[in-house]
Amino acid sequence: MSQPDTKFGEYGGQYVPEALMPAIEELTDAYERYVLGNEDGFVDEFEARIEDFGGRPTPLQRADQLSARYGVEIYLKREDLLHGGAHKLNNALGQVLLAKYMGKERIIAETGAGQHGTATAMAAAHLDMPCEIYMGRRDINRQRPNVFRMRLNGAEVTPVDVGRGTLKEAISETMRDWASTVETTHYVIGSIVGPAPFPAMVRDFHSVISEEIREQSIEKFGELPGAVVACAGGGSNTMGAFADLLEEDVSLYAVEAGGSSLSVDEEAGVAPHSASLSTGEEGVLHGARTKLLQDSHGQIMESHSVSSGLDYSGVGPELAHLVDEGRVTPAAVDDDAALEAFHRLSQEEGIIPALETAHAFGFLETVAGPDGDGSVELPETVVVNVSGRGDKDLEAVIEETDKRELENAPRMEVFDP
Ligand SMILES: *Cc1c(COP(=O)(O)O)cnc(C)c1O
Repeated sequence: MSQPDTKFGEYGGQYVPEALMPAIEELTDAYERYVLGNEDGFVDEFEARIEDFGGRPTPLQRADQLSARYGVEIYLKREDLLHGGAHKLNNALGQVLLAKYMGKERIIAETGAGQHGTATAMAAAHLDMPCEIYMGRRDINRQRPNVFRMRLNGAEVTPVDVGRGTLKEAISETMRDWASTVETTHYVIGSIVGPAPFPAMVRDFHSVISEEIREQSIEKFGELPGAVVACAGGGSNTMGAFADLLEEDVSLYAVEAGGSSLSVDEEAGVAPHSASLSTGEEGVLHGARTKLLQDSHGQIMESHSVSSGLDYSGVGPELAHLVDEGRVTPAAVDDDAALEAFHRLSQEEGIIPALETAHAFGFLETVAGPDGDGSVELPETVVVNVSGRGDKDLEAVIEETDKRELENAPRMEVFDP
């Protein structure tokens, strides 16, 4: 049985209050036994359920129009077709099932875009566990359809009014709940963030994405792709798409939200972007040492992105480490480029992507489009991880598109009744 990763170079660790240590130790033990050791057939049950309930494997599809546009073979890993419309179910189902094996009676989670809350609520309903989801008030307003989905699945959605009312505050609130309910409750963290063993465990539940990319690539074009591109918020779909390919000769690009600009207003404590891999500095947030957006006094800065799923001041410690090592190349794509890519993928390929996912496609356009900067030469085959579908983002997209004059966007006002 392998040992769980707790540190990734200088990143990771367990920076938690004393009250949480028993829960962290119990979880570490359960992760080793069930996830790494397949005790009681945990892994077999997880694999069976993620197939039957989740719909795995997801397809690896050639994108014909994008391949023509960029002059290389572009393949799409269709995590948007996983049940719930995003990659998030891999992790949510894994953790809720683990909680069951651990004898827990209640599930809590936080959510930003609402995707993790939705996935957790679905998994909890599927496995018959009571579930409470903390969500920032601002995100509740931005993502109402997902709030309804969670409630329909029987979850209680608790608004968080602290701070700016987004993911960062919701995480802190959920940690507070967990500290006082550890005996009965499991906290399902939604990305490869938080104290060990979460980053490694969440990566393991998502690594099925890169295992399938490996198999399907060999099947479809007889070799591994030259590059894999994924968007990175906390970085779970990224690490899922990279994990099984780290030792291979495959270029890995993690695309972050460049927001409206990469410059920072120190006085206001606000970064108009979420590019912690490209611009962050080392610090501690939510239980782990990692790259963070912080001011010169070490205060965490608020982040910004047009997509709430990327709107986070930190990033997974393993991804931060892989960037420092030079194994993963970070890139930042701004709100405008992401919106343009959203419309392009919708029109050219018939796939309406999540705004988060659109950043990964914005990267292709930025480096290899007709007006591209040529900063990266794309290899012969590129796999882009389509982390989720865009149904949840339609209102935001209409609003943001109407504010801008985007060349390739339809005029939304014609849809007004
Ligand atoms: C949540 C989400 C993300 C960002 O989370 P990661 O942990 O960085 O993967 C990206 N895409 C979609 C569709 C999401 O729902």
